[in-house]
Amino acid sequence: MSVLDLVKQNLNHIKFNDQYRTIPKISNHANKYIELNGLKVLNLSSNNYLGLAENDFLKQYSIEAIKNYGCSSGASRIVSGNYEIYAKLEEAVANFKHTQKALVLNSGYVANISLLQALAKNATIFCDKLNHASIIDGMLLSGAKFYRYAHLDMQMLENLLKKDTSNKIIITDTIFSMDGDAAPLKEIVRLSKQYEALTIVDEAHATGIFGEGRGYAYKEGLSGEIDIHMGTFSKALGSFGAYVASSEDIIDYLINTARGFIFSTSLPPAVIGANLASINYILKNPHLGEKLILMSDNVRHFLKNLGFDVGNSISQIIPVILKTNKAVLVAQKILLEKGVFVGAIRPPTVPKNTSRLRISLRADLDDNDLELIKDAFFYLGNTL
Ligand SMILES: *Cc1c(COP(=O)(O)O)cnc(C)c1O
Repeated sequence: MSVLDLVKQNLNHIKFNDQYRTIPKISNHANKYIELNGLKVLNLSSNNYLGLAENDFLKQYSIEAIKNYGCSSGASRIVSGNYEIYAKLEEAVANFKHTQKALVLNSGYVANISLLQALAKNATIFCDKLNHASIIDGMLLSGAKFYRYAHLDMQMLENLLKKDTSNKIIITDTIFSMDGDAAPLKEIVRLSKQYEALTIVDEAHATGIFGEGRGYAYKEGLSGEIDIHMGTFSKALGSFGAYVASSEDIIDYLINTARGFIFSTSLPPAVIGANLASINYILKNPHLGEKLILMSDNVRHFLKNLGFDVGNSISQIIPVILKTNKAVLVAQKILLEKGVFVGAIRPPTVPKNTSRLRISLRADLDDNDLELIKDAFFYLGNTL
């Protein structure tokens, strides 16, 4: 069979399983209300949790940066793609995360594959089964031996750590992207110490939200116990790109060995300007995330009372687990008719038979928006 035949066959298979995806037609994007296929809907499917993507302060910084430095960095950072605000941003991140140094990478995806490719070559990686796809890809790329322990299963992690004698790395999301639940960081830190493992946390969904925006590790009082903090500017921080915050040695090593850093043009001024503004904005408004979590508690409580399965979410990400792909697609459509847009998450993003709606709440929802959400889910509960 030719490659083209295989492509056709696989596409048919994807469609048959209700796992077919298309790029939605979205206009009027820059608000919590968007236009989807001509319909005005409340967007609860973005990771712009604080609404900072539309923030005037960020826009201004971004425009200033373009005026000062142009539209492109023109090269990789280590050649000539560096400019003043890059260093400023990295200093701000290191201060924010209480680490010696920080390094900006081009996206969260690139950060994870670069980190693991650079650090894990001769190590064994221990990875939560529900960690983000970029971590899985990073492990594969590194060529390292790896174990995936059952989600949050510390007993299983310990059993695996006991058996292996090589250099060890434990890597985990802090807030899990499709479940909104949290990693047991205290226990992970304890195991890391006992079994002499390096600890890496991915704070993509916690940065800007927990611990006055500094992340979930900070909130748990564990910042200093974790070797490498990775997070993104692309979600709550309303911009793009990622950071790794760690010791001077680790950052120096990444600059010298991380292929995703060395062999790619550095981020453009517009992005770095917005990132810097975003960190400053969070420093001035440290309680935005807290407000969002309180709102999330309220919505979660409401959904539970309607009988929906919301898993173990503790964050702004609330799954509504409906199990089958069909149910999720039908539910998404019903909610759209009520003016609410949530993600329809299916395999391979989540395990089979755990297909779900993914609600991501945002800090700028007002009472009317919350009313709309509750009405829509009340209707869904009566319809399904
Ligand atoms: C989104 C996400 C990433 C990837 O970040 P991008 O900036 O979108 O490339 C990495 N890790 C986790 C846990 C994520 O949710």
